[in-house]
Amino acid sequence: MKWSDPASLEHEREKMLENQLISRGIKDQRVLNALRKIPRHLFVEEALHHQAYGDHPLPIGEKQTISQPYIVALMTEALELKGSEKVLEIGTGSGYQTAILAELADMVYSIERIPPLVYKARKTLDELGYFNINIRIGDGTKGWEEESPFDAIIVTAASPEVPRPLQEQLIVGGLMVVPVGGRYSQDLIKVERTEKGFVQQNLGGCRFVSLIGQHGWQE
Ligand code: SAH
Repeated sequence: MKWSDPASLEHEREKMLENQLISRGIKDQRVLNALRKIPRHLFVEEALHHQAYGDHPLPIGEKQTISQPYIVALMTEALELKGSEKVLEIGTGSGYQTAILAELADMVYSIERIPPLVYKARKTLDELGYFNINIRIGDGTKGWEEESPFDAIIVTAASPEVPRPLQEQLIVGGLMVVPVGGRYSQDLIKVERTEKGFVQQNLGGCRFVSLIGQHGWQE
């Protein structure tokens, strides 16, 4: 297949929606439309373009990965975004999840600890014309205090527990998704901040690279 041909790329994304997302229960039309629209292949190196719409994660350099499309959709759907939200993302990586959030919310703040990934993601997102994204280099486990509180928070790396500063930077009524567990397997946890405290729901098993920082893993 020809990767320069927009019709075949659209076809690849449509197949991804049908076979990986809709068939597994993703229902939010706004989430589906964002995954239908965004050129996922541009977030991986050219040699991997032909695998970009496959049902698996892919390497993005610096020993990190871009998540499987289904996991991106599942986590995004759990945030219940309507369009007016201020969202915090921890683990920019390739910037693919960041672009999805930028389509669905008002403003996205994203933190990544590895500088070369930030530069690459920034370039890709600029070329695609996303201007409602703020990316910063640093330890995301501490959150982004100056811009808090957030309506939604997404953590795309695995943590031994829900990082406390992130919970504190969520508004009452706000939602967070974060993979919590051991180094090699975790559960996807949805946290809602209510008037009374924090309510957790387990969305199922998952496998992420480690969240490394003060309120995550030590290296
Ligand atoms: N959402 C990304 C997936 C990135 S993988 C995508 O769509 O491509 C997880 C990322 O989290 C990695 O890039 C890793 O460097 C980053 N990360 C790990 N610990 C972090 C921390 N404490 N703060 C910010 N980013 C972190």
